[in-house]
Amino acid sequence: MALIRHVVNGEEFGTAERTGPVFNPATGVQQHEVILGSVSDVETAIAAAKAALPAWRATSLTKRADVMFRLRHLLKERTPELAAIVTSEHGKVLSDAAGEIGRGLENVEFASGLINLLKGEYSQQVSTGIDVHSVKQPVGVVGCITPFNFPVMVPLWMVASAIACGNTVVLKPSEKDPSASVYLARLFLEAGLPAGVLNVVHGDKVAVDTILDSPDVDAVSFVGSTPIAQSIYQRASANGKRVQALGGAKNHMVVLEDADVEAAADAAVSAAYGSAGERCMAVSVLVAVGEIGDPLVAAIERRLGSLVIGDGTHGDSEMGPLITREHRDKVCSYVKGAAAEGATVVVDGSQKSFDNDGFFIGVSLLDNVGTDMRVYTDEIFGPVLSVVRVDTFDEAIALVNANPYGNGVALFTRDGGAARQFEFEIEVGMVGINVPIPVPIGSFSFGGWKNSLFGDAHIYGPESFHFYTRSKVVTSRWPDPVHSKIELAFPGNS
Ligand code: NAD
Repeated sequence: MALIRHVVNGEEFGTAERTGPVFNPATGVQQHEVILGSVSDVETAIAAAKAALPAWRATSLTKRADVMFRLRHLLKERTPELAAIVTSEHGKVLSDAAGEIGRGLENVEFASGLINLLKGEYSQQVSTGIDVHSVKQPVGVVGCITPFNFPVMVPLWMVASAIACGNTVVLKPSEKDPSASVYLARLFLEAGLPAGVLNVVHGDKVAVDTILDSPDVDAVSFVGSTPIAQSIYQRASANGKRVQALGGAKNHMVVLEDADVEAAADAAVSAAYGSAGERCMAVSVLVAVGEIGDPLVAAIERRLGSLVIGDGTHGDSEMGPLITREHRDKVCSYVKGAAAEGATVVVDGSQKSFDNDGFFIGVSLLDNVGTDMRVYTDEIFGPVLSVVRVDTFDEAIALVNANPYGNGVALFTRDGGAARQFEFEIEVGMVGINVPIPVPIGSFSFGGWKNSLFGDAHIYGPESFHFYTRSKVVTSRWPDPVHSKIELAFPGNS
């Protein structure tokens, strides 16, 4: 069994004082052991990041961009290898793993434009002989703490922009699937990133708290569940750090009566059961407006019987297992309790049997769900779709807006006026119009509202360049005359 170690200063690091198991969720067998970092391990990583900061922040923008371009090439070339690592520890099917790498790649591509993105502003002659300009400088050492469900994409949401802006990083990935982050750190080194700029420490609360409490960490990016996001936000900001903490979700897909039932059913099945529902943007609630409820539920049910659930490495599998046995059992318990809560269990995936010990579960469809039921109020994070029926469009909007989460939402309709009204009134950070999973492309930023995000900066894209830099404004006055020299060579970048 391999021991997964930290990467600090470009080297493997750490002793196995405390470890955690890393399973293959498709077999239920433990395949690796990961070091759970001690306070001293994490302090060593923070010290490495701090030591690497002066040289990296002084590295020219051209050279930083070169690293990003090389990384993009390497990530594309190694996608199959990295996808296999993701599938072996997370369980999602290989095509889904390759998909998340592709979406992570967008963040590297965006960050490759750092020379343009880090441009400052200049105002000449604001007063007689006085000019003002602003520059964007790195924040310093950034702590990045990531969840299990996107072991490549979410680290890249943070790390690509943080590094492009001239910061150094301590990344603490999920201890459930830590190998992808180690692989990413090696890829960055291969792309020419100096050792110490990106360090990876593994661990649990001990490691995270050490990052949050360290006076040498200047900013924290977190993605994970809402209770942890909230506590991270409070602790890190109380310690004077800049923080963005993205939390959990309960994403609604509202279907109006004029929608195409078959297209809406395809979208609902894809968005609810893809990656076994372990996506923060998964659709977990379908809001059926008026008469569309019966045909829509029937169309979804028809599709569920043919979904292929199995080992993510098998070419025909469409949905893999859940991340752990405990999580699988928790998801089962929601489905088993749904009827007693008053829901109609149309498809019961908790009863489905599988022929090995992997953390598999079947897909479930619950109808007539009420907003007071646990299957509605809790983020189940599994392949369970709840259908809530309402009579009117206004009721649908009120229902979504009353939910404490506000990550993603989708509307399915052919009515442009309704879509425009929905977009205007809905209190959710990311909205899809006939698009079930509206994860913004890398040139926009990603972020929910309400309990789905603590802090004011969304992640990746333009807002990340704001989050990972501090603005400095310089007011200057210079006496005449100028200095000059003769230089006949064509000026280059260095
Ligand atoms: P999690 O909150 O359990 O863990 C996230 C990270 O926090 C991990 O690195 C973990 O080691 C660490 N952690 C866990 N408990 C901690 C504690 N008590 N103190 C300090 N650190 C702790 O989340 P998860 O189960 O890994 O991921 C799934 C959750 O993440 C879901 O709620 C999902 O919606 C959410 N998520 C949100 C987004 C988003 O963009 N909003 C994206 C992906 C996932």
